[in-house]
Amino acid sequence: MVLRLILGDQLNRHHSWHEEKSDNVIYCLFEMRQETDYVKHHIKKVAAFFLAMRNFAEELKGAGHRVIYYTINDSENEQNLQANLLKLIEEFNVTRFEYQLPDEYRLDEQLKSIASSVEVDTEVFDTEHFLTERGEVADFFGDSQYLMERFYRYMRKKHNILIDDDKPLGGTWNYDKENRKKLGRDHERVEHLSFKRDIQEVLKELEEANIETIGNADDGELPWPISREESLEVLDYFTDHLLPNFGTFQDAMTENDPYIYHSLLSFSLNTKLISPIEVIKKVEQAYVDDDRVDIAQAEGFIRQILGWREYVRGVYWAKMPEYAGKNFFGNERKLPDWYWTGETKMNCLKNAISQSLDLAYAHHIQRLMITGNFALLAGCDPDEVDKWYLGIYIDAIEWVEITNTRGMSQFADGGLLATKPYVSSANYVHKMSDYCSNCKYDRKKRTGSDACPFNSLYWNFLSVNRELLENNRRMSMMYRLLDKISDEEKQAIDKRAEYLLANIDSI
Ligand SMILES: Cc1cc2nc3c(=O)[nH]c(=O)nc-3n(C[C@H](O)[C@H](O)[C@H](O)COP(=O)(O)OP(=O)(O)OC[C@H]3O[C@@H](n4cnc5c(N)ncnc54)[C@H](O)[C@@H]3O)c2cc1C
Ligand code: SF4
Repeated sequence: MVLRLILGDQLNRHHSWHEEKSDNVIYCLFEMRQETDYVKHHIKKVAAFFLAMRNFAEELKGAGHRVIYYTINDSENEQNLQANLLKLIEEFNVTRFEYQLPDEYRLDEQLKSIASSVEVDTEVFDTEHFLTERGEVADFFGDSQYLMERFYRYMRKKHNILIDDDKPLGGTWNYDKENRKKLGRDHERVEHLSFKRDIQEVLKELEEANIETIGNADDGELPWPISREESLEVLDYFTDHLLPNFGTFQDAMTENDPYIYHSLLSFSLNTKLISPIEVIKKVEQAYVDDDRVDIAQAEGFIRQILGWREYVRGVYWAKMPEYAGKNFFGNERKLPDWYWTGETKMNCLKNAISQSLDLAYAHHIQRLMITGNFALLAGCDPDEVDKWYLGIYIDAIEWVEITNTRGMSQFADGGLLATKPYVSSANYVHKMSDYCSNCKYDRKKRTGSDACPFNSLYWNFLSVNRELLENNRRMSMMYRLLDKISDEEKQAIDKRAEYLLANIDSI
């Protein structure tokens, strides 16, 4: 008998494993405390994973495969991967154990250890999901400087995406400069495809199991796709209705619309319900067929998946486990309490955090330039910041979370992933959103009791970290601007920053 393990983020129906059915093969899927408890997750995230796993197990059964599924409250469930596997190996006289390469270092280590300790043959298979091998980014860069743009061009050529005769379609590789428009005052909430389902049963099970979670599920809604069919519907809806504006407003933020033109495909992609290449091809085809989809929209979207997503995964495998301990600035502050409640007077943070607590979602710029920006300016401990991001978002799995958080957002890797820290004053927030117009703080002031905290914290961050950052060429303009501020004002700015940091839980 062969036992095949499917992890909660390995729901790839098109994996070659599932092509043929055999009575000699048992698939196993486990909902486990090991996974619900290694960090405190958003309640909707746990519900979405369990529902997607249950659905996948039913699909496999429906296709004639033998499946063993342990729900979280199943009396057979040992709540731990090793114990569950050992039990099944014994119970079914298993002679061979097979698993797919996990995407997380933690699980990779655990499965390697299990595989070496069991007394049956073991074999590990690729997940047949990504467009790169685990080590491809490391091999590509070798000892040279890591740079997403270089890797991205290589990927465009390698997979022949938006390429004509080895040249980029449209003549330019990257249309990032055209991806930075603010929404108009008359912007109305964009309609998204949303799935209505009853999640009371699974919520009750989580309660019975006493799983500690964060966030709210009081609205009883889980609009995310949890099956392959639903994921394909979201992809179709995205290309038909949202893609024509995706690139232009990719970085925009507003109080009135949490999703704007974003695709909401991250959960489907990260659980492998849908594959990156089918998403990329669909968008490339939309560029060819649909006059409303210009190159800036298609390229802006494809770059995120063909470029960033594969790149951060490669960085993860190149640099783990050391990456998880990186703390370039030596930051130690705990995250303010309001990261778990949204109760702050800063309107941008209040919005981004409340939305995350309600929906388990915030889009990239909210994560990077609102919550991440503040955490870095305030000198928060990257371990704390990581835990928050790993828990709160529906799509958070360590390989993509830690690289984005510790690397891109917190610059804790000292510039491996990002060429400069993503920090800003209120200027950027105002440029890209409508948050400031409804805020108790004054975005134009650097000092004074109503001055926007981002302003003093920003200039203070530059002063405090001068030694570490001033030789970074991309920071030189910022240091020139800092040096133009009078000593008297700099002192007042530092004093205001000091006050804010001392009272961080109540600002
Ligand atoms: C601090 C921080 C933490 C993040 N944590 C996660 C995480 O845990 N899981 C996760 O999937 N993404 C993470 N991201 C990346 C990005 O914010 C999300 O992928 C995106 O918001 C998901 O929403 P969407 O599907 O609507 O994306 P869209 O804006 O529609 O983008 C399409 C797809 O591109 C991919 N993508 C976009 N940006 C990135 C990126 N920087 N890295 C990798 N893939 C990307 C995603 O698969 C996404 O579904 C993080 C970003 C930041 C700044
Ligand atoms: S004024 Fe400052 S705190 Fe208020 S919304 Fe703007 S950037 Fe955020």
